[in-house]
Amino acid sequence: MTATPSTPAAAAAPVAAANDLAFDVIVIGAGYGGFDAAKHGADHGLRVAIVESRDMGGTCVNRGCVPSKALLAASGRVRELADADHLAGFGIHAAPVRFERQKIADHAAQLVATIRANLTKALERAGVTILRGKGRLEGPQRVVVRESGSGIERVYSAREVIVATGSDPFVPPGISTDGRTVFTSDEAINLEWLPRWITIIGSGYIGLEFADVYTALGCEVTMIEALDRVMPTFDPDITKIAARHLIDARDIDARTGVLAKTITPGCPVRIELVDMATKEPVETLEVDAVLVATGRVPVSKDLNLASVGVETSRGFLPVDETMRVLASHEAGAAVVPHLWAVGDVTGKMMLAHTAAAQGAVAIDNILGHERRIDYRSIPAATFTHPEISSVGLSEADAKTLAAQEGFELGTVRSYFKANSKALAELETEGLMKLLFRKDTGEVLGAHLFGLHAADLIQEIANAVARRQSVRQLAHEVHTHPTLSEVVEVAYKQAALAVGA
Ligand SMILES: Cc1cc2nc3c(=O)[nH]c(=O)nc-3n(C[C@H](O)[C@H](O)[C@H](O)COP(=O)(O)OP(=O)(O)OC[C@H]3O[C@@H](n4cnc5c(N)ncnc54)[C@H](O)[C@@H]3O)c2cc1C
Repeated sequence: MTATPSTPAAAAAPVAAANDLAFDVIVIGAGYGGFDAAKHGADHGLRVAIVESRDMGGTCVNRGCVPSKALLAASGRVRELADADHLAGFGIHAAPVRFERQKIADHAAQLVATIRANLTKALERAGVTILRGKGRLEGPQRVVVRESGSGIERVYSAREVIVATGSDPFVPPGISTDGRTVFTSDEAINLEWLPRWITIIGSGYIGLEFADVYTALGCEVTMIEALDRVMPTFDPDITKIAARHLIDARDIDARTGVLAKTITPGCPVRIELVDMATKEPVETLEVDAVLVATGRVPVSKDLNLASVGVETSRGFLPVDETMRVLASHEAGAAVVPHLWAVGDVTGKMMLAHTAAAQGAVAIDNILGHERRIDYRSIPAATFTHPEISSVGLSEADAKTLAAQEGFELGTVRSYFKANSKALAELETEGLMKLLFRKDTGEVLGAHLFGLHAADLIQEIANAVARRQSVRQLAHEVHTHPTLSEVVEVAYKQAALAVGA
């Protein structure tokens, strides 16, 4: 190993010179973004080191996608078995459903352990050097790692450095968390207890997914949304149908236009609600627990970005489409040589597969294969029952583009209630909205709610990636009977609209 040790006491002093370019690439952060960058680099012959201060796998594996989807899988089964009306439609009459909270929590924890171990082994097998500790920059091409446990600091040098330090939950001012009665998704994924009445602050995808879990397991939910409608980040038409099924039809009391000004942990937890516009007090709630799901903030403040002349905006690192770090978010800002950033810390579509895609793009560019990320073709999904998904432009952005570029925007809707597979499943609630150019037929985006919407979105994402036209897509044969025919119907309607 080529590194120069220094003691913690010497941390404030100038860092000793590192051996020349010990690695081709050092990645700081072993989340999904860092993992993909490190593995892709090592697979292509680069000498790669990855630095991780907490658990290998980052948010997605330990505190995000993986455990939350395990909880959703288990609680989804409970919901299905407890839905007597749905089962009766098939002539099935099940016994009252029983579940063990701890076993559901164990399922999630075991899955996390398995995926974390697989991911670590995959890096080791690829020949990546894993450095356990907290990394920071020390000028261009140099990374200091404060080793976990010993606190010893070592300096490593690399031709290129990739920052992949991810994000943490955002807790707004006025809200105190204790990790037990008031908590974020970091603790919620442990499912340590099931509060009789829980308030979820925020109606984004994390709030919706946990509302799905909690209501399936018998908890009463109050959902607080500061903006004037629930699910403000989703397509308005999709929101209408999704909110009807995921919120109104369940034991959820959704309040919009109100702000949780203060939240005080305890038994009960006290929530002071004020009107979002006037800031006048509205009500004080006393509930058993609160999940704060109000977004995420980048992890960048301890990176010593000043040593490489990088200015962040709200902590997010400025990057271009090749994942090179820029000196600032200002237009025309210069590229910072030998520095790259990927994943949530860049603030672009904060999803695991975005982070991974950015990691691969960074490495391809480091390898000399110029490549740019295409955010428009990256899908997003919310794993509620049923699911919500989207890809490409929102309808508002598509309208703006149409006005700028002088084309007519086409919109068609395709319904699950007309789909044989959905009818067979007695799951006919669903809608797909397809956005396309009426002149060329190019698909600009799609928004879905319905059974397996998270899987269905992929074929539209692929079409967006290839900038395909509905003229061509309408000829693609879909398996019958499958939910994918919902997409086929939309393509065919759109093709008619463009005169194909
Ligand atoms: C509850 C929840 C559910 C989610 N579900 C989904 C989903 O279904 N699908 C999806 O695509 N996305 C999902 N996400 C989002 C997804 O988890 C993130 O987008 C993804 O983890 C981002 O990856 P990343 O590599 O950028 O950062 P992270 O996964 O946050 O990893 C960053 C890593 O860097 C480490 N680190 C930070 N600073 C340092 C340092 N100085 N030195 C060394 N190491 C450092 C951290 O410890 C961490 O391990 C979910 C998130 C949450 C919270």
